[in-house]
Amino acid sequence: MPTADTDHDDPIDCRSDTVTRPSDAMREAAHDADVGDDVYREDPTVNELEARAADLVGMAAALYVPTGTMGNQVAARTHTEQGQEALVERDSHVYRWELGGLAQHSGLQVRTVDGGDRGVVTPEAVHAGHVAADGHRPGTGLLCLENTHNAKGGTAIAPERIDAAADAAHEYDVPVHLDGARLFNAAAALDVPAARLTREVDSVMFCLSKGLGAPVGSMLAGDAEFVERARRHRKLFGGGMRQAGIIAAPGLRALENRDRLAEDHRNAERLADGLDELDGLAAHDPETNIVLVDTEDPAEAFLERCAEVGVLAVPFDDHQVRFCTHLDVSRADVEAVVERVSQVV
Ligand SMILES: *Cc1c(COP(=O)(O)O)cnc(C)c1O
Repeated sequence: MPTADTDHDDPIDCRSDTVTRPSDAMREAAHDADVGDDVYREDPTVNELEARAADLVGMAAALYVPTGTMGNQVAARTHTEQGQEALVERDSHVYRWELGGLAQHSGLQVRTVDGGDRGVVTPEAVHAGHVAADGHRPGTGLLCLENTHNAKGGTAIAPERIDAAADAAHEYDVPVHLDGARLFNAAAALDVPAARLTREVDSVMFCLSKGLGAPVGSMLAGDAEFVERARRHRKLFGGGMRQAGIIAAPGLRALENRDRLAEDHRNAERLADGLDELDGLAAHDPETNIVLVDTEDPAEAFLERCAEVGVLAVPFDDHQVRFCTHLDVSRADVEAVVERVSQVV
């Protein structure tokens, strides 16, 4: 994978929306944060962040966790019994990019569902994938959905589709967790409040550390009883933090960046249009801040040449790369990316 350590003076880093550096306002917020021991629930800044996050996603309560991965894994552990099945989309983050954590942390067997080009889990797929517990079969204990769907290129899945899959799972009393690492990107793209996207799910995780630009942290939200039990699992997984207000304070500032995500989406569109015009590249139409580009040359070779001219992206497949737009990529940077890449195709 190319790294930020290139010869170019001024690399433009489109590898991920996690590469943003905390703003001065975030650093000041960390400096000034009111803190206490959060394991004793005495950190006022964490308490404020949890209340604000719960409110934004329309849930009763929320829990501050260090990473999105921990949020998803704690959610799975909290919803399930060891030995059950988790129904997940075949290219979902929780299945492909979390080290098999559903098996390791929760003792779950995974059953995958094909969500097609956009990663949409249909009610039919839920019905087909559901397993009732009996003397031989473990029973389905969880349905996981993802919005936006990362591996499918940041697709923003409409609320009705999320509702329909969740309703199908609920017919069997199976709880539903939404991996909303980029939930606010989905909300911005669909022009709905984030809470509309979580209406029928039982829990949701979203990242402060992606498009919102916080240096660290994610939120896991659900009803009060779920969050109380999730708090115990966070502790079990080693995620009980002390004066965490220091990192929660920039997280509160990050929530203010929800309103500018549409700018990242417009930049992604411009980036896709510009790259698509270049020889040997075919860009997918972005729905949010992720641009997938099919490359005639092997992805690794293409990315090495990009790094030489100060453009960083990541390989997604043998002939596919991913560019992300984010807070630290301006419209001028996007134009520069197109110009620089044009020199190497
Ligand atoms: C990044 C991501 C996560 C995990 O978040 P981390 O904070 O990197 O652990 C989970 N789900 C999706 C869809 C992601 O893109």
